[in-house]
Amino acid sequence: KIFEDLNLSPELLKGLYIEMQFEKPSEIQEISLPMILTAPYKHLIAQAQNGSGKTTCFVLGMLSRVDPKLIAPQALCICPTRELAIQVCAVICSSSVPFLLTLNYPSALLFTRENGYMLQNMEVLVKMGKFTGITSELAITADIGNYIPIQKRPPITAQVIIGTPGTISKWMIAKKLGMSQMKILVFDEADHMLAEGGFRDDSVKIMKAIVKCNSNCQVLLFSATFDDAVKAFVAKIVKEIFVGEY
Ligand code: AMP
Repeated sequence: KIFEDLNLSPELLKGLYIEMQFEKPSEIQEISLPMILTAPYKHLIAQAQNGSGKTTCFVLGMLSRVDPKLIAPQALCICPTRELAIQVCAVICSSSVPFLLTLNYPSALLFTRENGYMLQNMEVLVKMGKFTGITSELAITADIGNYIPIQKRPPITAQVIIGTPGTISKWMIAKKLGMSQMKILVFDEADHMLAEGGFRDDSVKIMKAIVKCNSNCQVLLFSATFDDAVKAFVAKIVKEIFVGEY
């Protein structure tokens, strides 16, 4: 298969070929993209090794579902916290110009290996979405410099949000992150995110907040590993609170 077979917009094809310089879909992309992109949108649990190209799958999923004319958060990707990341991370805002990233904390940013993971997802999103005009923002909490606390910021208008469960919950509770237009919810490293303890409570809280105002939201879970207990939990919780099958 080639990317043209996958029902992607011309803008995303340009992102794939020109920005990412990919030639053809990887196996996981070939299998999962038709499922992700075809209506009626189903929930998906996908297990694929690191390096297989799964980031591209969910980034293309998010970018395909966003309506560029609707100025509201429409796609949310939740990634695990990297404890040390908080020390050095900053909030990246995308401004009105297509994917021009501006930094809340503009100087001397050190993106270490610890927070590199989420930033990597952001980078893929930015590159892939370059020709779409879709805006994005990183939802992570920085405790350095002149980071602007969420309470002092206007409601988030970025269309794609990537963040950690803690910060996303905080933004939600502060009523700065509207969930009513959310069309697609992605869990990266879902095994880790939804394992007992840890991030499970925040993740479920976010799912419930979305489903409260929009039960049609598509849920994608990507992970290199899937513990049986997590798989069972995920199947149960997604079925219980979201509409649709997978
Ligand atoms: P991931 O599994 O998402 O971490 O991706 C692993 C690496 O594969 C990244 O460096 C991607 O840029 C690269 N990659 C993803 N999809 C493709 C593709 N279709 N063709 C070539 N490289 C790809």
